[in-house]
Amino acid sequence: MTFRQALKAGEERLLSVGIEEAAHDSLALLSHAIEKDAADVLLFGGSLSTEQQETFDRLVERRAARYPLQYILGESFFMGLGFYVDENVLIPRFDTECVCEAALENLPQNARVLDLCTGSGALAIAIKKTRPDATVDATELSPAALEIAKKNAKRNGVEIQFYLGDLFAQAQGYYDLIVSNPPYVPKKDWESLQEEVKHEPRMALDGGDSGFDVYKRIIDAVKDYLKPDGRLVLEAGDGQAETLVGMLKKRFKSLHVRNDLAGRPRTVIAQNLK
Ligand code: GLN
Repeated sequence: MTFRQALKAGEERLLSVGIEEAAHDSLALLSHAIEKDAADVLLFGGSLSTEQQETFDRLVERRAARYPLQYILGESFFMGLGFYVDENVLIPRFDTECVCEAALENLPQNARVLDLCTGSGALAIAIKKTRPDATVDATELSPAALEIAKKNAKRNGVEIQFYLGDLFAQAQGYYDLIVSNPPYVPKKDWESLQEEVKHEPRMALDGGDSGFDVYKRIIDAVKDYLKPDGRLVLEAGDGQAETLVGMLKKRFKSLHVRNDLAGRPRTVIAQNLK
């Protein structure tokens, strides 16, 4: 089979199970199966060996079963940087890039930064990569996720202090900025999540009955770790920003909500004014 025929067959198979980005996914899987860049596949063409064909078919079937593309490829991109991902970490979301931008906009020079629930390390690594003057610590409860975050820091050539532990358990002193994309999916939404999301670590998603369990624990403790004018930047689940602002109001003097590219309020920035 030629590359073009394989691409078409893969696309049709993925479309038949309702995968929206079928053409994109088929190309990504073909490039992965034959270990070539997507651009080379499209520009130069060629034919698959029997072995490559078998690999490609297997990958397409895995994707058709709604297994996340990024886990099949073992790679995801965040803020233009490449990250290794597997089932031990949440796949970095486009939504979280807005959280990263908010953190970067709120970062003083030579800041001490803490990323809670770092997962693949996406936020911590992108912040350090963009602002090498910052000193970045990151904590994570899952040992397997922490290993991936360390691997990703190495891959992206940045130095981060990683700590294994629950939220602030290993936090060191006071920070200028604390950022987090904590688990926030409410129990009632669990069943209706996309099939792909169900392959992601429940620990990274499950925010308890209301979705606010981890937010509440962060907000209760955060002031003990923030400098007098420090800031907390939180990703908010869709529809959660208002409640979060309500929770933060009692403790912080200044609060801002930032919309994502789709105009939804998805980042809450709280400042601890001097
Ligand atoms: N954005 C993720 C989702 O909706 C949830 C991530 C999280 O719980 N922090 O699938």
